[in-house]
Amino acid sequence: MRFDKVVRNKLFGLIFAGNAVECVYCGKTYRKFLHEGVKSPAFKKYKVAGGGYKLNVQCVNCGSVDRSRLLYLFFQLRTNVFKQKTDLLHISPNKEIANGLIAPTIHQTVGTIEPEMYSEYQPVYMDIQEIKYPDQSFDVVICCHVIEHVDDDEKAMREIHRVLRKGGFAVLQVPLALNLEKTIEDRTLKTDKERKRMFGQVDHVRLYGLDYFEKLTKAGFRVVPDNPFTNKWMDEKSLKRQALDPIEDVIVCFKD
Ligand SMILES: [Zn+2]
Repeated sequence: MRFDKVVRNKLFGLIFAGNAVECVYCGKTYRKFLHEGVKSPAFKKYKVAGGGYKLNVQCVNCGSVDRSRLLYLFFQLRTNVFKQKTDLLHISPNKEIANGLIAPTIHQTVGTIEPEMYSEYQPVYMDIQEIKYPDQSFDVVICCHVIEHVDDDEKAMREIHRVLRKGGFAVLQVPLALNLEKTIEDRTLKTDKERKRMFGQVDHVRLYGLDYFEKLTKAGFRVVPDNPFTNKWMDEKSLKRQALDPIEDVIVCFKD
């Protein structure tokens, strides 16, 4: 770890010393987590799950955020990936999640259009609009906060469905606007400023509304959102200690 990061972590460790929250990745406990996220009027207006600026989100030590802790806990508590042999395709991963899924049972293939960013995982160059793997190659696909950047999202969804084995599932997280029926998409927007205003972030090409689920269904998936608060797969104390966001579901997409 770089020296300035060590000093920063020590300093914040002292300021945030406590035992109210706990990071599932590094095991450290704090009074609270750091704030994190993009301050975006669009995300606020449309009540976007999995995006935007929030308090009590980021681990002081390892940098994990609530959405990555949610996914690790999902894989640990709701799936068999740590118990049985699993071929997993992880697309442009969040590194905490990728590291959390390094286990003897899991063969993790990292696919990305930016291999230089993921050299520690021996990545495979991959455009998810055209995945270079045969049909039914993987038991699990994870694609978190990627599809909102991709031009032809419906093609990407069909490709993910195609490379999944029957009986497998994909976790397809996006920033999801809960106050928006229909996805906002406008190909004519050219500037960063326009995209930030409409989609919440300069590098997003749309802002998904609740019709995201219909798009996934159209691609062939059976979509079952899984929320630890409403489905009670963690007790209240643990939910609070991991500082998960009650409005964020794990978007689980099965190939039957
Ligand atoms: Zn941590």
